[in-house]
Amino acid sequence: MTIYLDHAASTPIHPVVADRMHQLLADEFANPSSLHAPARSARKIIEEARETLADALGGRPDEIIFTSGGTEADNLAVLGVARRRRRDGRSNIVISAGEHHAVLDAAQALRTEGTEVRIAPLDAHGRTDLDALATLVDARTALIAVMAANNETGVIQPVEAVAEVARAHGAALHSDAVQALPWIDCSMLSASTIAVSAHKLGGPKGVGALLVRRKTALEPIVHGGGQERALRPGTMNTVGIGGFAAAVAIAVERRAQSIPHPIELRRDRLQRRLVSELDGVHVSGGEVPRLPGHLHVTIDGVDSESLLLSLDARGIAASGGSACSSGAAEPSHVLLAMGIPKQRALGALRLSLGPTTTDDEIEASADAIVEIVTRLRDRR
Ligand code: PLP
Repeated sequence: MTIYLDHAASTPIHPVVADRMHQLLADEFANPSSLHAPARSARKIIEEARETLADALGGRPDEIIFTSGGTEADNLAVLGVARRRRRDGRSNIVISAGEHHAVLDAAQALRTEGTEVRIAPLDAHGRTDLDALATLVDARTALIAVMAANNETGVIQPVEAVAEVARAHGAALHSDAVQALPWIDCSMLSASTIAVSAHKLGGPKGVGALLVRRKTALEPIVHGGGQERALRPGTMNTVGIGGFAAAVAIAVERRAQSIPHPIELRRDRLQRRLVSELDGVHVSGGEVPRLPGHLHVTIDGVDSESLLLSLDARGIAASGGSACSSGAAEPSHVLLAMGIPKQRALGALRLSLGPTTTDDEIEASADAIVEIVTRLRDRR
């Protein structure tokens, strides 16, 4: 039996979502843009899903644009807003150093088009440094991007304070809430655009959404048939969108029942065991508010890859949280931005819990990590 501690990477499909998708796959095959009754039925599924997403994100249904996932939603926001506003003389964007690659690499693409990209640093806890960010924003800033919570550390970002800075300069604010939505109420996020993804909360992969508030000017990054207010043309994914809405409804209900709390207690138990039973375990963002399911540590004297392979051999699925390129382990940009030295950053371990994680799994994982780290250190 696998102990699955990689919910921040993707989650198992919730059985209710799977049933819903099976039903939609069989029954709702019509093109939702056609005019006949089967099309109207498919369209109704999508419009109901739009309402569910709008409620969860504190917007209106006509502000929800369905996409192929979080990556596309981030790209649409960053590229779409920056390109549209460049025409009005807004020639720079400001992004937090801890952003996901979906935002960072979209910004990099803008750089090649002549947009100036300014990077706001993180503090040692992994929060965006507000004072530093404020000095980077000016009257030519098209967009600020600060995620709701970080995918590696789970650290919750000061989006409300950034929104004030954005408002003062007439800049749009994009917030990537892909990791936050499963855990925290995102209906109060005062961002101009908010990106979310279905597969992080028990829904299918390949479906996401971007909330685009009414006054936010942006241009599409894909061109075609005019669907989704022409901001995301293409025949809509009825099955995926219906599954996404079912998953969001379940996540909202779980929050209402305070289900994140016992998960947080399990996370804290795992953290306590690792810190007390091993030397040289550093919790990333442990002193600031974090998502309840995230535990990110750097461990002295081990490298992520060996640790993850050993854990995998014991049936424990976890993640290092950093990208691997050309076979060589690269330290995470998030950890480097927090001022963590490169060597320590290479010993990163992200354990991300979900609603199905049990107490026994926590104990077994702690036992295995302690044993494996001790063995790996002895080998050095
Ligand atoms: N943004 C964040 C913070 C994420 O964690 C992820 C997924 O890892 C994405 C964006 C990309 O979402 P998707 O996998 O739906 O493209």
